[in-house]
Formats: sequence, C-alpha cells, structure tokens
Amino acid sequence: MKSPLSLFLCVLLLLATGCMHKKHPPTTQEIAKQFAPPSLDDAMAVIDHRDDWTTLPELHVPRNPAEKFLKDMTIVLDPGHGGSENGATSTMKDESGKTVTLREADANFRVAKLLERLLKDAGANVILTRHGDDQMNLVDRAEVANNAKRVDGGTGADLFISIHHNSNTKNPSSNYTTIWYHGDADNAEVSIDAANCVAQELANQIHTTVAVTAPLMSDLLMYDSGFGVLRAAKMPCFLCECSFVTGATERQRLRDATYNLREAYGIYLGLCEYAYCGRPTQTLPEVTFGSEHVTISTTLSEGLPEWWGKERSRILASTVQVRFDGKPVPSDFDPKSKKLTAILPISSVDARLKNKPLVFELHFENMFKHHNYPQRFEITADPSGPKATVAALGPAPLSSTRPATAGTRGAATTQSAR
Ligand SMILES: [Zn+2]
Repeated sequence: MKSPLSLFLCVLLLLATGCMHKKHPPTTQEIAKQFAPPSLDDAMAVIDHRDDWTTLPELHVPRNPAEKFLKDMTIVLDPGHGGSENGATSTMKDESGKTVTLREADANFRVAKLLERLLKDAGANVILTRHGDDQMNLVDRAEVANNAKRVDGGTGADLFISIHHNSNTKNPSSNYTTIWYHGDADNAEVSIDAANCVAQELANQIHTTVAVTAPLMSDLLMYDSGFGVLRAAKMPCFLCECSFVTGATERQRLRDATYNLREAYGIYLGLCEYAYCGRPTQTLPEVTFGSEHVTISTTLSEGLPEWWGKERSRILASTVQVRFDGKPVPSDFDPKSKKLTAILPISSVDARLKNKPLVFELHFENMFKHHNYPQRFEITADPSGPKATVAALGPAPLSSTRPATAGTRGAATTQSAR
C-alpha cells in the first residue's frame, strides 16, 4: 500500500508528465477510426483509382529525417538570370483577366529563396549568388561557389546548384524535368550522384513527366564547351531545368510561390537522399619516392556515419581504381583498414626530373554507389630529394576529356544565359 506522501508524489508526477505531453506530435498516418481497419481489397480499390489522382496533393513540407546529413554542408544556390535578363518569359491572363508576364528569373529566385530556407533549417551552410533582381555574369556566379567559406574553414562549396526553368514555344505541352551536368559522365560522377537524387524527387513533387530519355543530360549537348556557369565551377555542380514556363498550366502554377515551394521541397528531398547515401572521400594521398617507383597511399572514407555498421566495409572494393595518364594502375585495397596503395608506372628519377606536376586519379564507390571526391591529385616532386607535395584538384578541364567526335555547336561564353 502506498503512503499518502508517495500518492501525493504520484499525482504530482502525473500532473507534470501530463503537462509535458499535452502537445502530441502529428502521426504519419491517422489510425483508422472504423471498428475494423480497411481490408486488403479496400487498399487495392485505392490503387484502382490511381489514375484519377491527377491533381497535386495538399502541400506539406515535413522535415526529411535524413536532412541531418546535410548539416554543415556548404551549398551555393544560383537563381538563373536576373536584372535585364529575364530568362524565358510567358505571357498569360491572370485571375482578373489582366495580361501578365511570367519571368523565369523571378520563378528561379523564389525557388532558390525557399530552398535556402529549407536547407538552412537542416543546418546546411547556404549561400546565394544573387540576393535580388540583380544582373550577374556566369563566371561571377561560379566564383561565389569557388570562394565560398566552408564550415571547416576551407574554401570552396561542396555543391553548386544553378536553378532554371525551361521553355519550348513550339511544343507548349512539354513539361519535363531535366538536370544538366558538365562535360562527360566519367568526369562528373559526384555531380551525377546528386543530380540523380534531385531529378527524381523534384519530378515527383511537381508531377512533371519523364522526358523520352533519361532526365540527366550533359551540357555538351547544348554547347561545345558546356554551360559557362558549370564550366567555371570547381566542385560538383549541376543545373536544374525544373519545368517549362511555356506550358499553359505550368506557367500559371509557376506564378504561385507555394508551387515554387513544391519545387524547392523536391530539390531539398533529393539533397537529403544524396547526403543520406554518403559523400565518400579519402585522406590526402601521401607520396613515397622509392628507389624505383613512386608509391601513393591513402585511407578511403565511405562518407557514412561512424556508427554501428562501420565494422564491415561499406566500400565496393571492385570499384576502387587508381588512374595515371588516363589508364588504371595496379593498386591494393585493404577493406579492413581501408588503406589503399598504388604504384605509379614511372621511376622516381623520371618523376623528379619532370618539369610539370604529375596528375593521378582515384575513384571508388560506397555501397550506395556514391562516388568519392576529390578524385584528381597533383604531385609536385622536389628535384633535389625524395619529397613531394600533393594537392587535390577539381574535375578535369573539358579539353582533356572531350571526345574527338564532339559536336560543332557554338561555344558558350560568359554572356550566355547558362
Ligand atoms: Zn534559364
């Protein structure tokens, strides 16, 4: 039997916990109020009607649990166009019958501001290239990302995203999402990791169709030297063409900032997924000049949380590759210690006598098939001794990777729209 004092304490405790739990968080799905929960046939009937559900659902923007992996990531957002540069435009009647013009520059800016807020709420370090209806050239936009201060004190954003909307006056029913990476796929692995997640989530949120081909495209399809804004960025980057301003329904929707929020939310979800799958990296490789060979060694990192599970390697050993002069060289990877060593096919003497730095590449994937970054390194040998400095490089410049069969379309300049 309880004493009066313990009963009193129990009442106090109940009152206290009652107060604490007064505000219940919303559940993910309300539990059915019926006596019997809906049957499998009832659920099948919902699927029978799936084609009737063509309208966008009520707007909800819950936090994605994986947003925690975006914390401290430096992301530069670039709302395309601005100032006297409208981007694509579309003229229509508004609700009162007045003629209004939708500027792509404005829609891009609204999406970027809303995305900035979602990403900042997730703890990411977000920087915008323009803060109002300003005119900026393409190189200056990329320079914001190249010069961005990271949380770890370093310089250079982790990711650069240019936000645009597409246009097709010849076929106004076009409304698909495309994401553009720079150069060839082999040289844009990390950009594609992120772009792939964003393409799917963005299209899901705003119900654009999937184009005839895959939604990820190389900017070499548009210009011989790709998009100026991506070419000038020294980190993983991509350009979103979220939807088409020329579509009869889409251009009305794009005027609505809550619709722009759906776009921003889709990009946010894609970035959560990208971060969730990890951003593999490695220690800065060390170089040893032996009597005959140049040996490099580094420790790979899966880019995944160091929690229970890390005891088993989450790197796909079959994907580990070191390349020198574009060709794979023999390497040894120990999945337990995650140490990688490789021998470059060049003698120590030759390496030291070279007047220009040696460049080698390192590629691998974690179990989510996300690629490591950085992937290129430069060794500058000291001619007088067995010492060398190693520096990480950004993606290879286009000229060294472009196929000889590339098209002959004009080169993009800093004056181009993208
Ligand atoms: Zn544009």
